[in-house]
Amino acid sequence: MSERSILFVHAHPDDECIPTGVTIARYAAEGARVTLVTCTRGEVGEIVVDDLKHLADDGEDALGEHRVGEMAEAAKALGIGDHRWLGGVGRYRDSGMMGTPENDDPRSFWRADLDEAVEAMARIIREVRPQVVVSSDENGDYGHPDHIQANRVAVAGIEAAADPARYPGAGEPWTVAKRYTNAMPKSLFRKNFDYFKESGDEFFAALESAEDLPFGVEDDVITTRVSAPEQLERKLTAMRAHRSQIDLNGVFFALPDALQAEVFGTEHFVLVNGTPGDERDAEGKETDLFAGVALGHVE
Ligand SMILES: [Zn+2]
Repeated sequence: MSERSILFVHAHPDDECIPTGVTIARYAAEGARVTLVTCTRGEVGEIVVDDLKHLADDGEDALGEHRVGEMAEAAKALGIGDHRWLGGVGRYRDSGMMGTPENDDPRSFWRADLDEAVEAMARIIREVRPQVVVSSDENGDYGHPDHIQANRVAVAGIEAAADPARYPGAGEPWTVAKRYTNAMPKSLFRKNFDYFKESGDEFFAALESAEDLPFGVEDDVITTRVSAPEQLERKLTAMRAHRSQIDLNGVFFALPDALQAEVFGTEHFVLVNGTPGDERDAEGKETDLFAGVALGHVE
């Protein structure tokens, strides 16, 4: 097996875009096998455009069904050849923000039977045999229950996939070489905070300083930076595809070119398991998620 294979695990449709869009597009363009697993359809996401607000009243599955279409369009824009819904489309329901009643819905991803979800993940891992897996971090990026759960299921799925004693009927064991979590550098927002605050964007306007951001990690925690500004247009196209969720008139689409390339053209990761590669940039960060991975090695 010499093919490079990488698996991205995200909670909702659109989560693949901002933290991992250019990275996905880059590896897809290079011919690597790129698999995206989305854990829920995002049924309770906030609808940001007026002409789609009716979806919130069209039945409890209307937004989820609409977002399946948005996801397909985004996957196409990013060049993802293999997109899957964990356990099949609609198996797990969006759990809503922490502390909301949707957290208690027995159909929610937050309430998922972990053994079943982990088996579904292990089955995918054994089939696509990724050397590299990327997911949200253990804090759920910004505390969202589905992001926390996506990380938990990815971690447990990787462990189970490697263990011949677990789910013996779900494929041949496979050992993932490197596991990353996606990360947003706080420094980027510290440096550009005034710009974001003055942009009129509601989210940033409500913050006193970058320290109030609900997400972000310090630079020294980041191990890896993938810079692929040539894939920026694909990422923006994918973001536009998630029209019910991402405001096209929002600050992210109005950034000056240089800032847009800085904020969106480079993505950041933390290597959690595995050995970092030797090739590093001037600040000692890896520049390739496959760095140091032995290809052609059959487990
Ligand atoms: Zn999400």
